[in-house]
Amino acid sequence: MLRSALAEEVNRRLLLLVGAVGLMGSVLTGVAGGSLAVLQSNRDVATQADQISQAVSTILQLEATLPEKQAVLQLYRNQPFFLQSDVLNAVLVLDASGRTILSSRQALINRSIRDLRSTPLLRDGDTQRRIDCFLGQLSSAAAPTAKPCELEGHRFHWPWSTTQIALREVQLFQFGIDPKGSRYLILISLGTQATNSGVLHLVLLMVLSSALILGLMLWSLTWALRRQLLPGLQQLAETDGLTTLANRRNFMDLSQQALLQAETSQTFHVLAIIDIDHFKRINDQHGHLAGDAVLRQLADTLRDGLRDSDLVARLGGEEFALLLRCDAVMADEVLERLRSSVEFSECVWDDVVIPVTISLGAAATEHLGFDLDYLYAAADASLYRAKNEGRNCIRWATARKGDPERESWTSRLIIQA
Ligand code: GH3
Ligand code: MG
Ligand code: MG
Repeated sequence: MLRSALAEEVNRRLLLLVGAVGLMGSVLTGVAGGSLAVLQSNRDVATQADQISQAVSTILQLEATLPEKQAVLQLYRNQPFFLQSDVLNAVLVLDASGRTILSSRQALINRSIRDLRSTPLLRDGDTQRRIDCFLGQLSSAAAPTAKPCELEGHRFHWPWSTTQIALREVQLFQFGIDPKGSRYLILISLGTQATNSGVLHLVLLMVLSSALILGLMLWSLTWALRRQLLPGLQQLAETDGLTTLANRRNFMDLSQQALLQAETSQTFHVLAIIDIDHFKRINDQHGHLAGDAVLRQLADTLRDGLRDSDLVARLGGEEFALLLRCDAVMADEVLERLRSSVEFSECVWDDVVIPVTISLGAAATEHLGFDLDYLYAAADASLYRAKNEGRNCIRWATARKGDPERESWTSRLIIQA
């Protein structure tokens, strides 16, 4: 019972720990992967905008009329392969006065950029500010003190914004119609759902794969820990360190189980409590280490003198307990044998023989029933009697209902409870 309770507790805590570490690891991997993916998606958007603006500036430089250039732009716009991932919503080419001279949407040709501000295409404060910046550069050329503003400053693209507007300024010198060089603004509007879903997929993939890898690693770690730790922990939780006998908790748990079964099968059991006589004196005369040696030797004597079906434990201090699987008559013989073997065996410490005797209190199920607490209180009361009646002896609890002795341990039982 204790064994499985401990195993369950260790399993529960390990599971919690592993779950928390796994969750944190997966989230962190997802965040790290997501950040990298967002950075990469920004690079992708910028690269796409650069490629489109280069193509458009090439179209601008053609020695052709504006309608012919417009036709080429339209052709370019309709190429199914020019964008690998994102959707090109629109391309506008504005001259320095803000007039649309070329556009991927025929309807926007010759429209002023100021007219287009309210359209969904440009309903974006930052883009308008940057367009104003382009238009304002004319006046800043006229008035050099005016503060220059940044036109192409890169806008960070977050994966939840589905449109990205890129602006590129080009200045053309080389063809005859424009000897001084004219400034044009290329406005590219990209529908970035494809980039966004790429980011989302990558994050999901990283979270799932890290959860899988971390899960496998942590599971094997947990398994190894359980194999390594659990036996040691169980040993520590169940045994007394000095004598390696079962400890009180373990004894009570095992006895409880044994008595429950015994009650069903009506198998007689005897509970006995053993206490070393004048143990304090042994400690005082020979030292604490000698006392420990006496405790160990008594533990060995008890272990060697009992059958495998009996339980033996150190309750604490110089008190031990036995649960014998036999009736009172046979138990009396066993206990008497133990008592005399302690009395007559020699415990030698530092070449000095230490005389050791024990007192025993015993209670049998055939007299008192199978309730552990009741048997324990009865055996304890009998031990008390053994001490009072000269020590180095066994006393049995045989009292029945109404007997004053029974009343005395019943009241002790109530006090203990
Ligand atoms: P009684 O015959 O009435 O049982 O007297 P006692 O001296 O045996 O009983 P008492 O309860 O007065 O003393 C018990 C002593 O056991 C006191 C404590 O220092 C000692 N003791 C408890 N645990 C240990 C231990 O682990 N090692 C040693 N060496 N002594 C211990
Ligand atoms: Mg004692
Ligand atoms: Mg004692």
